[in-house]
Amino acid sequence: MVLPNEPEFKQAYNELVSALEDSTLFSQSPEYKKVIPVVSIPERIIQFRVTWENDKGEIEVNNGFRVQFNSALGPYKGGLRFHPTVNLSILKFLGFEQIFKNALTGLSMGGGKGGSDFNPKGRSDNEIRRFCTAFMRQLARYIGADTDVPAGDIGVGGREVGYMFGAYKQMQNNWSGILTGKGLTWGGSLIRPEATGYGLVYYVEKMIEKATNGKETFKGKKVAISGSGNVAQYAALKVIELGGIVVSLSDSKGAIISESGITPDQIAEIGSAKLKHKSLHEIISASVFTQGGKASVEYIEGARPWVHVGQVDVALPSATQNEVSGDEAKALIQNGCKFIAEGSNMGSTKEAIDVFEESRSKDVWYAPGKASNAGGVAVSGLEMAQNSQRVQWTTEEVDSKLKTIMYECFDNCYETAVKYSADKNSEGLPSLLKGANIAGFIKVADAMFSQGDVF
Ligand code: NDP
Repeated sequence: MVLPNEPEFKQAYNELVSALEDSTLFSQSPEYKKVIPVVSIPERIIQFRVTWENDKGEIEVNNGFRVQFNSALGPYKGGLRFHPTVNLSILKFLGFEQIFKNALTGLSMGGGKGGSDFNPKGRSDNEIRRFCTAFMRQLARYIGADTDVPAGDIGVGGREVGYMFGAYKQMQNNWSGILTGKGLTWGGSLIRPEATGYGLVYYVEKMIEKATNGKETFKGKKVAISGSGNVAQYAALKVIELGGIVVSLSDSKGAIISESGITPDQIAEIGSAKLKHKSLHEIISASVFTQGGKASVEYIEGARPWVHVGQVDVALPSATQNEVSGDEAKALIQNGCKFIAEGSNMGSTKEAIDVFEESRSKDVWYAPGKASNAGGVAVSGLEMAQNSQRVQWTTEEVDSKLKTIMYECFDNCYETAVKYSADKNSEGLPSLLKGANIAGFIKVADAMFSQGDVF
């Protein structure tokens, strides 16, 4: 259950439990109640010391973790986060979310999450490589292609996955698909880097289509996005491809706002500069942001985009947890925002979710990250399938499978929301928050009953 000093895990746990309790699930099938205390304790938590050598030849030490939360549906699967804020509460919340998210993809994956409080910012490439090797020296004994297959998350991209994969292979003398997000020439899946951002936009495409009876699409819609990392960049590119206008991006230091729309060239510039850990403030001095000497974006220091973007139709929080407050949610709705879907995990605070859910009667529709950002782990699952078969599918094949998974995920959330809605007769759109939580939970719970984890 929730231990003291676990605020983030408590928030994720409460979100699931209140979604279940506020539906007709337990009155229709009371046995599901028994699953909650079991599913909310990780099967195993591994904590380890990571000692490594910095460029000055000095010893540094960090905490390493892997939360192997639930294996009912398949090997533990979920990312590794390298960020100074990493602690067990955060990793338990992320691992818990991951269980139900993975269930919503329809693929065979359990849930897990891990990482370290190592801060990659300001570190040289050599230091990052030495840290990744030291981290994998500990983690290697606990993972495996049929046991636990980690991926990237904040602070862990293709470069880090490469270093960790190489370290594992050397230590174990074994080339197997023990990590996803690998390089495209050595076992990675096409579309994996793009998957979370693209998948998010595919999910929202269905929200727009359903809410407007097929009358509207992304075309001409103004879209506010936060973050400027992996998820934000590819969400932005897909929005632009579908004819939408991306009016904001952000990072941990501030936000950029563009009335005319951020361009693909600007996103490419951000992508390469972020690999060097540059801030948006530094990046916007590049020539693609200055036309005729005039800045094409407004920079707001220390701000998140939500209250600064003006009128928008769609908001895609894609930076980190709790990045939309109750007041920011109200401001978005007052400015006409109809669709909010999380690229980040638990992007909205409880207060923000309450505001969005209460506004369903006004045709505002909110999608929780465990459904709308499932595209990343879905393509990780497809990468595992390709590794098992020793094949590589084409871009078109993977993209079309991703699209199908996200569309089916939306339909599953929608239909489950309708089926178990306690407020069936009230006006407004069905709650995707409830639909996602209930659909993911039932799939995991049924497997746990079958395997004797709950009886
Ligand atoms: P990246 O590390 O690529 O990018 C993270 C972005 O968020 C950066 O712009 C970073 O700013 C910003 N950020 C990080 N921490 C904070 C903070 N405390 N306050 C404000 N901004 C912050 O990570 P991803 O794009 O991969 O992940 C973003 C979110 O999406 C996370 O919540 C992650 O769990 C979730 N997610 C990611 C998936 C994936 O496949 N990558 C899959 C599913 C969910 P700066 O550049 O200044 O550090």
